[in-house]
Amino acid sequence: MKKFLGAALFSLLSLSALAQNEISYIVSFPNAIHHEAEVSMLIPNVPSGTLTVRMSRSSPGRYATHEFGKNVYSLKAFDGSGKELALNQSAGDVYEIPNHGKNVKITYTIFGNWIDGTYAGFDETHAHMNIPATFAFPVGMDNRPRLVKFNYSDKQNWKVATQLKPLGNNSYYATNLQYFMDSPTEIADYKSASWQVKNTDGKIQTIHLVSHSNDDQKTIDNYAVMLKKMVDEHLAVWGEFPTYDYGNYYFLHDVYPDNAGDGMEHRNSTSIVQRTPKIEGYELNLLGTFSHEYFHSWNVERLRPKTLEPFNFTHSNISNELWLAEGFTQYYGALLLTRAGFKTVGDASQTFSGLVNAVLNSPGAKNYSPIQASRYAVFADAGVAIDQTNKGNIFLSYYTYGAATALALDIRLRANFKLTLDDYMRALWKAYGKPEIAYTVPDLEKTLASLTKNPAFAADFFKRYIYGTEKNDYAKLLLNAGFVLRKANPGKAYTGLMRLTFADGNAVLPQTTIGTPVYNAGLDVGDVLLTMDGVEIKDQAALTKVTEAHNPGDIVNLTYTHHGETKSTKLAFAEDPALEIVSIEKTGGSLTNAMQNFRNNWLNTQVKLK
Ligand SMILES: [Zn+2]
Repeated sequence: MKKFLGAALFSLLSLSALAQNEISYIVSFPNAIHHEAEVSMLIPNVPSGTLTVRMSRSSPGRYATHEFGKNVYSLKAFDGSGKELALNQSAGDVYEIPNHGKNVKITYTIFGNWIDGTYAGFDETHAHMNIPATFAFPVGMDNRPRLVKFNYSDKQNWKVATQLKPLGNNSYYATNLQYFMDSPTEIADYKSASWQVKNTDGKIQTIHLVSHSNDDQKTIDNYAVMLKKMVDEHLAVWGEFPTYDYGNYYFLHDVYPDNAGDGMEHRNSTSIVQRTPKIEGYELNLLGTFSHEYFHSWNVERLRPKTLEPFNFTHSNISNELWLAEGFTQYYGALLLTRAGFKTVGDASQTFSGLVNAVLNSPGAKNYSPIQASRYAVFADAGVAIDQTNKGNIFLSYYTYGAATALALDIRLRANFKLTLDDYMRALWKAYGKPEIAYTVPDLEKTLASLTKNPAFAADFFKRYIYGTEKNDYAKLLLNAGFVLRKANPGKAYTGLMRLTFADGNAVLPQTTIGTPVYNAGLDVGDVLLTMDGVEIKDQAALTKVTEAHNPGDIVNLTYTHHGETKSTKLAFAEDPALEIVSIEKTGGSLTNAMQNFRNNWLNTQVKLK
């Protein structure tokens, strides 16, 4: 993606020379009510030899493979005179046309009924298009510009919102395939609000909120005011805005209860799909995704791991760096809402609680490093397999793992170096993000070494906590800010059976976690728990009652069925490992001035009032 701007400049200078090579699409929606769109693609100057046309199997911002080819049908090829050409579907999403003339037209129907940041959705209210889910492309012509014209004159009040360059007449332009694929497009009767921001170089850019929802204009205007406050806090971390291509950044927001929902970052936009009835009344709940995705316009879209470059549309890129790309983004997404005043210090400590519990208690973090967690994303990020995996024991999400790592590094920089994680992000931005030089894990370590002027610290931190599986001393670190990390339920008995599902009076284990009493007792996924300590376990209440009647170390009889066979075993209760983080004031301890200052400098607004 770092080549986008160079390519844009080149194409402006020689637009006429390239014009005859442009791949142009026309999209219409005659059967939107039944979730179909009709796409035609014109490919000029096709080289001799077999022409291969395919659908993508991955999508920018997603890290696992998706089979977009499954929703394409009635694909046909024609030559310049309109004569149909023979084609061979050589794989599910690959079509070969051995004999053709100079110009080839491809037409197909695409079905889409899944509204999120990854797939496509067509209905009478909108065309919600993630580009890889919608557009086929010819193989070997990635550098050719794309033109797309949307035909929607039969739809009431539809308008287009996209980061693609508008050419007028419902037509849009992308410099090449990579840019096109990164440019989700919403066509709907949406409402919008926008505001201008001035960058450090004096250039004015515009940020747009585009909302397809059941809200009135006043709600959208108010929400834009909230977003502006959030954006200002992001700017304070990075020191400057990215240069958005064509001067615009778009929040493409889609809010309906039957949406699938997620947030997906792109270079100059984000697709945010949420499931509440409206925005109004849910503003604060919806804000977390906005904060996360907007942070990505620096971290990932420009400060970008080398492993994601170039983005591979036939097979997911495997990445070592998602603990920073996603995890640090996750940390800041929440932190900046506290700094902006949308979340309280109590909310922040609850968020930290979740992170620290996961990183200290999950077997996925005990036995695997943040780099290994990042590499598992190719399977974990909405992967398509239906068989069982051992994910619960071998994987902790790189979002959580990375955010917990960011938390520790932020406090260590503050406590030991009079620096902050903001300083580190700015240093990375200057070295790799702004110049768009894709980075590696050693580059991240090098920047930490030069920022702290302490290469030994950087080497040690990366060896233990990034390449390794050691854990930071969170209790000691958090105390700097007057937060106490302690056992949530000291002295309480624990079985590891928290996630039983009860169906027809059967207590079924949906998973077993390494190291828990029930795992050690030999029970497996799918086993049905019958009795514990002689008591029938028909519901959660029965299980809780038996557990609460015991102490850690007590041993009880357990009966269960395994593959339909009744078995018995013994279970030794452990102590509940759950942790919590509470402010020292709430524990009866005293918040010193040093703690208060540390906390304020960390969690209070960083926006300097002029
Ligand atoms: Zn993300």
